[in-house]
Amino acid sequence: MLDREACAALDEADPLGGFRDEFVLPEGVVYLVGNSLGAMPRRTAERVARTVTEEWGRELVGGWNSAGWFAQPLTTGDRLAPLIGAGPGTVVVGNTTSIAVYQAVSAALGLRPGTIVVDRANFPTDNYMIERLGPTRDVSEGFEGAAVVLLAEVDYRTGARYDVPEVTRQVHEAGALMIWDVCHSVGALEVDVAEADFAVGCTYKYLNGGPGSPAFLYVNPRHHEAAQNVLPGWYSHAEPFAFEPRYRPAEGIRRFAVSTPHVLSFAALEASLDLWDQVAVADVRRKSTMLTDLFIDLVGDRLELASPRDAERRGSQVSFLHDDGYPVMRALIDRGVHGDFRAPDILRFGFAPLYTRFVDVFDAATIIGEVLEKELWRDPAYRNRLAVT
Ligand SMILES: *Cc1c(COP(=O)(O)O)cnc(C)c1O
Repeated sequence: MLDREACAALDEADPLGGFRDEFVLPEGVVYLVGNSLGAMPRRTAERVARTVTEEWGRELVGGWNSAGWFAQPLTTGDRLAPLIGAGPGTVVVGNTTSIAVYQAVSAALGLRPGTIVVDRANFPTDNYMIERLGPTRDVSEGFEGAAVVLLAEVDYRTGARYDVPEVTRQVHEAGALMIWDVCHSVGALEVDVAEADFAVGCTYKYLNGGPGSPAFLYVNPRHHEAAQNVLPGWYSHAEPFAFEPRYRPAEGIRRFAVSTPHVLSFAALEASLDLWDQVAVADVRRKSTMLTDLFIDLVGDRLELASPRDAERRGSQVSFLHDDGYPVMRALIDRGVHGDFRAPDILRFGFAPLYTRFVDVFDAATIIGEVLEKELWRDPAYRNRLAVT
């Protein structure tokens, strides 16, 4: 078992070590919630301020042209594409993941009407959004006879990871269309949705785009002509500034844009992508498996593991089960270890390799040991649930 000194040595040798300074992290906090809201890149504040004062403040409405706001859904899409294994002109950015899920499933059903296979245990919004689009069935019943399959590459509770190429192949073999939700994998591992029919994801988790930063939608070029946008806002019109009374869809990925981009949120996302331009995701994944393996080893049998033990089958998070998970997490947060709690009994710890150090893992495991051993979580103050857990 590694001691703290050995962890510090791993940090010394870490090829991603230099990125930590690119982030603003409070003193004394081990932030293991980058899978929910990524930490703020240092450059973001300045970038957002510049968009407000120089672009909006000086250019006013001219910013739509001069600052490139109008084209943001596509230009930012092209910047994101390599992070999901996609080519240029296949990704549109905007709205939220929930909306992108609705668009992707609607478009897929337009191409192939029938039953939607879902994971009933997936992040609920994906399933809520499509409830009224058609009959659904759980993935445990297989792909046979399905029209559309919607799955999350990495499970938000357990961190379990699907084999994307293999599942995509099986789904296609069954004659169905494949939609991947990569919210919990983009920025954490080498995502490759190129063979899928559609993919969706958010940018505020491992990509550090900031609270409420825009989502993305990938549409395989083989569907650009036939697939329809269920939310055909003016941004997806063939000629938005012709202001024609009738709708005509644009060619290519712009057909899936909806409406005006959230320019200030895009500014924060762009700042983060400037950082991601310098990152090799293979390094991120390598460090991520080292961090999560180390964490599992150090916590040992003090908690029951809910994540796959095999790093290959796991995303960048580690989950444990505890009947009193909520007060345990509150006690940890009070002592500087920030994870989160997912009902009914999951303690979730996400590892963002750009700013999480090996010594952070060591310290987190030590504090977890203390909280459990001394039963510090029994403090009645930790029973009272906050709105966001
Ligand atoms: C985080 C996450 C979302 C978030 O949806 P919003 O529309 O951004 O609120 C959706 N689906 C999955 C699988 C997620 O992990």
